[in-house]
Amino acid sequence: MNTEINASAGMKGGCLCGAIRYEVTTAPAMAGFCYCESCRKLSGSGHAFHALVPEEAIQISGNVRGYEWKSDSGNTVITSFCPTCGSPLFGKSSGMPGMVTFRVASLDLPATISPQMAVYTKRLQPWDHLDPTLPAFKEMPPMPQEG
Ligand SMILES: [Zn+2]
Ligand SMILES: [Zn+2]
Repeated sequence: MNTEINASAGMKGGCLCGAIRYEVTTAPAMAGFCYCESCRKLSGSGHAFHALVPEEAIQISGNVRGYEWKSDSGNTVITSFCPTCGSPLFGKSSGMPGMVTFRVASLDLPATISPQMAVYTKRLQPWDHLDPTLPAFKEMPPMPQEG
């Protein structure tokens, strides 16, 4: 085992019915709440909690079904869910090649990940909550510049 991987590596999760199981072998590069309209509809709640990892750091067993759609920013997004119970699980965006998001709420021990930020807070619903201690962005945060 790589001792540099922190306590949130080796996370396991899955859908409600158990047909899809997955394991994440590295700590997420980023984790945060998204309050956007798509996440609201896809989650059936006020926001979704996504964590971002490289594709090779997630092992999935079972066959997910994908739904492809266009985000506000024009990226093609594929949201994957369990075809039996409908639990939303993963997301991929053409804007972030090689990376995949998973729903923190689908982990067996979801408390192992803490959110780092909240995005699309302009869509916050009056009945939902926004943690005032989290860095919040009205839409997406500015992209970090590489190099
Ligand atoms: Zn399922
Ligand atoms: Zn969203």
